[in-house]
Amino acid sequence: MTLQQRKRVVIVGGGITGLAAARQLRQHNADVDLTLIESADELGGKIRTQRADGFVIEGGPDSFLSYKPRGLGLCRELGLESRLHGTSGKVRRTYIMRGRKLHQLPEGLTGLIPSRFGPMLKNPLISPFGKLRMGLEYLIPPRMTDEDESLQSFVSRRLGREVYERMIEPLMSGIYAGDGAQLSLAATFPNLRKAELDYGGLIKSMLAARSKPTPKATQPAKRWPAFLTLQSGLAEITEKIAAELNDVDVRLCTRVTSVKRIPWQTGYEVAIAGDNPVTVDAVILATPAFVTAELIGSLDAQAAAALRQIPYASTATVSVVYPLSQVPVPLDAHGYIVPRSEGRPVLACTWTSTKFPHRAPEGFALIRAFIGRAGQEDVLNRTDDELIQMVRDELRSVLGITAPPQMHYVFRWPMAMPQYTLGHLERVSAIESCSEALPGLFFAGAAYRGIGIPDCIASGEKTATQALAYTQTHPTAQAEHTA
Ligand SMILES: Cc1cc2nc3c(=O)[nH]c(=O)nc-3n(C[C@H](O)[C@H](O)[C@H](O)COP(=O)(O)OP(=O)(O)OC[C@H]3O[C@@H](n4cnc5c(N)ncnc54)[C@H](O)[C@@H]3O)c2cc1C
Repeated sequence: MTLQQRKRVVIVGGGITGLAAARQLRQHNADVDLTLIESADELGGKIRTQRADGFVIEGGPDSFLSYKPRGLGLCRELGLESRLHGTSGKVRRTYIMRGRKLHQLPEGLTGLIPSRFGPMLKNPLISPFGKLRMGLEYLIPPRMTDEDESLQSFVSRRLGREVYERMIEPLMSGIYAGDGAQLSLAATFPNLRKAELDYGGLIKSMLAARSKPTPKATQPAKRWPAFLTLQSGLAEITEKIAAELNDVDVRLCTRVTSVKRIPWQTGYEVAIAGDNPVTVDAVILATPAFVTAELIGSLDAQAAAALRQIPYASTATVSVVYPLSQVPVPLDAHGYIVPRSEGRPVLACTWTSTKFPHRAPEGFALIRAFIGRAGQEDVLNRTDDELIQMVRDELRSVLGITAPPQMHYVFRWPMAMPQYTLGHLERVSAIESCSEALPGLFFAGAAYRGIGIPDCIASGEKTATQALAYTQTHPTAQAEHTA
């Protein structure tokens, strides 16, 4: 195959989605010229691990769900299985704040579906009336319309407003930093609606699951904890992928400004700020939806409009370090989550050195506060000092810590969390149909069908497979490769 006949693929965005796509393309075809373009000065996107003085500080995600296959699957393929860690087995509890006090989150709330009602009934977080209302769920018939419903509406309708506000809303916020009244049930927790439709309700679905015989495994598979991370932080994944991409043209500090059709030819011209454009056969856009909208604005106004309708929430994380001697109460949980109704700026507080003990040296507490959520984004107008002060105020009132932190790390996340609001799945279907009309152009990433790391990996890999199939069945872009 001559150089001129080789196909060329560009991936825009070097977050976990773009990296997973690049790796997949490399694994399955060495005959494609592959370029990965990233505007920042490092790969990884939202995965930002800082290592200092024996501490592992995560600026963005801190773990991923083990039951979604492509997180664990990719780590295995990268040879990282022995580096995986679950959350500490010694301490399992998480607290929820109510009336400025911390209450234990009842066990058995896997994936927001209560898998055990006993602990919920015993928990003082819910009033006797709230518990009675929750029990009535058994008698409530399924909603028969197919219209999308908000998460808040579904949970309040089935389990009562109190369970929603005091338990489910803060759990959901910890994932999406979102507003449950806006988030689409179908796009965020379709399993809840499925349980309602298949079994007539959540309690009935839970009882049915219990009465099912446990299948006898021929070989006992290793049971992983629900949340996994890597010994030296999630960046181990992105670093390992990056090291495998040695024959890929990786361009950092390079911003793509538009993607255009080449007149009268197949293929696309990818414009780059301050550099020559590149002519390619296929493009994978692994950028946030609002960026993708700008890049394809002149190609497909309708797709760009649908992409712009995916809103994003802004947040910040602040990690602080204290000698344990300065922490007057035991950090005996993974941390706590704060319902929106508490009206506090802090959304959640992870006691990292308890949740993942290997992330801090002996004798130190590493605590991470999550600030800001959908509708409370003014947090990013604050200076670093103000954010740190906000966290100090929080920790003084909740844990009684008065000393200044020995170390602190602030990470700002403007427009970082895509919000799957009502109608999200229809918007994504519309975007996907538009992309079908643009052969060789693919969209991947957190904006569409899952924001978690395993979802992003799966999305990147899927589009890479599609891009590869496309390059194998279409003629090479004729314009000369200019870069
Ligand atoms: C604070 C926080 C905590 C989170 N916690 C968790 C967690 O614990 N577990 C979990 O599973 N998920 C978590 N998530 C979600 C998860 O981290 C993200 O959904 C995922 O990392 C997104 O990956 P991505 O590659 O799709 O996007 P990104 O990581 O956003 O990557 C997109 C890349 O595109 C680049 N780019 C943008 N514009 C251009 C351009 N014009 N040209 C070139 N490059 C461009 C960006 O610089 C970026 O690197 C968290 C997210 C945040 C913000």
